[in-house]
Amino acid sequence: MACDQETFNADAILLAPGRIGSGWLIDRMRTLGVAMRHNPIDVGVRVEVPNEAMDRIIHGYGCWDPKFHMQTPSYDDFVRTFCVCPAGFVVREPYGDGLFGANGHSMRDTGSPNTNFALITRVSLTQPLENTTEYGQRIAQLANTLGGHRPLLQRLGDLRRHRRSTWDRLSRSHVEPTLRDVTPGDIAMTYPRRIAMDITEGLEMLDRVMPGVASDSTLLYAPEIKFYAMRIATDTSLRTSVPNLYVAGDGAGVSRGIVGAAATGLVAAAGIQGQLTPGAEDNLKPRSAHIC
Ligand SMILES: Cc1cc2nc3c(=O)[nH]c(=O)nc-3n(C[C@H](O)[C@H](O)[C@H](O)COP(=O)(O)OP(=O)(O)OC[C@H]3O[C@@H](n4cnc5c(N)ncnc54)[C@H](O)[C@@H]3O)c2cc1C
Repeated sequence: MACDQETFNADAILLAPGRIGSGWLIDRMRTLGVAMRHNPIDVGVRVEVPNEAMDRIIHGYGCWDPKFHMQTPSYDDFVRTFCVCPAGFVVREPYGDGLFGANGHSMRDTGSPNTNFALITRVSLTQPLENTTEYGQRIAQLANTLGGHRPLLQRLGDLRRHRRSTWDRLSRSHVEPTLRDVTPGDIAMTYPRRIAMDITEGLEMLDRVMPGVASDSTLLYAPEIKFYAMRIATDTSLRTSVPNLYVAGDGAGVSRGIVGAAATGLVAAAGIQGQLTPGAEDNLKPRSAHIC
């Protein structure tokens, strides 16, 4: 319920405004003196390969959205696959402030000859810059500047050979891009070396279980960045340091997906129910909040 003007009385309040409301929630929490910290972000690319390269995993093992978690050999960074879209399409995703990245989806009634997925590396920062969102935005800005406000597209073979992709080179490739509103370019000009290496090493590891995924024709779209809201300090029932005030979902930085968001709603609801149960006086005492 949106209530800019009115006052509502309640025994307990649950705030779950989602990513779109995270800025508002952070402002409220600052005003109320609730502790918060920055969450890590994930930076990487949208990878596009022929359906055949992933067919054995997706259809052979019946795993529609396979998740691979890897540690890269050079930097020991955590890299993972996410949001696999069989026979799907790569799409532009607005990040706000005129910035665009790549994302993907599959359609129920139509398909493409390609499968796409996100390959992303986890970035956490410590002092003096803890603001991972600012870091991700700077990377997105640079990619958008180089791409003329379009996502960059590069063949893996061109990235390996330290050269820019062009439409001419792409036309000689085995994989036809499903998103053409892009600028062929050089991801190495945009991403820090560490992230570019994480991507190539991640693809080489994936190639061992899905031969062909790291072929020179594999297409990489950048940027693909998963931003996450700040993590609001709570106890294990998702109650903040403000008595009777609970948070849940992506906007509070306690979940990163639809199932997790629903689960945090249940956790908070159970906390409220426990707190408001008659006779459970102990539950009514405010508990100190900490970051789980
Ligand atoms: C394009 C896209 C694709 C996605 N694909 C996947 C996927 O494949 N798998 C997956 O797990 N997750 C996916 N997600 C993420 C998933 O949608 C979220 O993780 C989930 O919806 C978070 O739930 P939530 O309840 O925290 O927030 P939301 O679902 O965003 O709900 C918050 C609600 O609060 C409302 N609100 C905000 N501020 C106010 C206010 N001031 N007053 C009143 N109402 C307000 C919002 O309008 C919204 O309805 C995707 C998200 C996007 C954008």
